[in-house]
Amino acid sequence: MNEKIWGCVCESLLKSVSKNEFNNWIKPLNFKGIHDGVATFHAPTNFIGNWVLRNYGEMIQRHFVAEGTIIDKIAFDVNSLSSKQNLHSSKNSSNLEDQTSELTVRENNSLLPVAPLDKRFTFDSFVIGKPNELAHAASRRVAEGGPVSFNPLFLYGGVGLGKTHLMHAIAWEIRRRNPEAKVIYLSAEQFMYRFVQALRFKDMLSFKELFRSVDLLMVDDVQFIAGKDSTQDEFFHTFNALVDQNKQIIISADRAPGEIDGLENRIKSRLQSGLVVDLHPTDYELRLGILQSKAEKHISHYPEVFMSDGVLEFLAHRISTNVRVLEGALTRLFAFASLVGREVNLDMVQECLADILRASDRKVTIDEIIRKVSDHYNLRMTDILSPRRARTVARPRQVAMFLAKTLTSKSLPEIGRRFGGRDHTTVIHAVKKIEDLKSIDNQIAEDVELLRRMLEA
Ligand code: ADP
Ligand code: MG
Repeated sequence: MNEKIWGCVCESLLKSVSKNEFNNWIKPLNFKGIHDGVATFHAPTNFIGNWVLRNYGEMIQRHFVAEGTIIDKIAFDVNSLSSKQNLHSSKNSSNLEDQTSELTVRENNSLLPVAPLDKRFTFDSFVIGKPNELAHAASRRVAEGGPVSFNPLFLYGGVGLGKTHLMHAIAWEIRRRNPEAKVIYLSAEQFMYRFVQALRFKDMLSFKELFRSVDLLMVDDVQFIAGKDSTQDEFFHTFNALVDQNKQIIISADRAPGEIDGLENRIKSRLQSGLVVDLHPTDYELRLGILQSKAEKHISHYPEVFMSDGVLEFLAHRISTNVRVLEGALTRLFAFASLVGREVNLDMVQECLADILRASDRKVTIDEIIRKVSDHYNLRMTDILSPRRARTVARPRQVAMFLAKTLTSKSLPEIGRRFGGRDHTTVIHAVKKIEDLKSIDNQIAEDVELLRRMLEA
């Protein structure tokens, strides 16, 4: 059974990576099985395990899901004498700066490929809606070249909203227009990994040369280098060198530059010096659009599967903003329908997606809202609940009430009660006040947006 799944995953991986990459990195792995959502592989060396994890881990995981097997992470074990590093897993990479320096690495770092691009992530397959239209338009503009006006382009937004997809789409488009263009796409984590290795191999010169000779540098998930000082330093120099040469840089992160803790101010301001655009959480229309587009692909794959009306609408309604979850749900439905020869209808959805539906049922509570809002404004929870009317307390309280009204299904009187026994008219006033302020006061608009993001995450 295991072998079969892995066989299917390999087949579909071959569509995303080159034959060469496949033979070098994926083929040497020995798939051992899945236990508690962890897919374990045996890798011939620490180095290979680590490299695959960093460069292909997410892709492998995605392909498992696409084959109908949900896994949370990938782990490698290596028959090595040092048991300490036997297990590298995708969840414990936070102290990579320390971790990589301990690895037993033999191969020569300069031979390593940069991160592969996913063939499915193109502009053609990107569905545009209100929440992402600006990010999409900016990405298009950059991909179409011309004078470098948006430099750097900084894309940010929550998980699964399409940042990586857009970056890959830009890279594909630029390559299509100019096959000679030197494009490097990698995650901030990979950037750091290479940097640490270059230090280790005393090979900084080729590291610097590599990164400073590109036409387009894309660094994904840059929040990762927050707090990693020497990597940040190198990143900053690379960045400046490229900007000086008028080369395009595209960066993504899960939040706005100013909000990344542990990022040096000079880097923050550098990142803000170009165009900063965000991907908003998906809305119902966008989710439905994405589902329709993905369903078409599935239907062409499984022509025997029939899907009844209303299923996509139900999913768009019930599954929250992360597009990856949406895709996984659809994949599972089609795989299931095809395996058992049933049509996809609402009954089957309930049965087959019970876990996903339950997970996205998780509702934000008023307590959480009060806690997050008081943290954000440096207040105590009791301040928010107190009768104090000073602006410094009253405004955050109104923000919290606004969030309670918009993120929960609680009634106005109930919300009033939970905020220190206030009247429902106070809640109405607060909601109205924040709605008005949001359109004229950027700070409030940003605060509300940030808090909403954190609460819905
Ligand atoms: P992020 O990098 O923001 O976490 P990804 O770019 O990896 O998110 O997107 C997650 C998944 O959702 C990918 O498979 C991607 O193709 C898909 N996706 C996200 N947004 C869209 C969209 N607007 N249209 C089509 N697919 C999308
Ligand atoms: Mg991403």
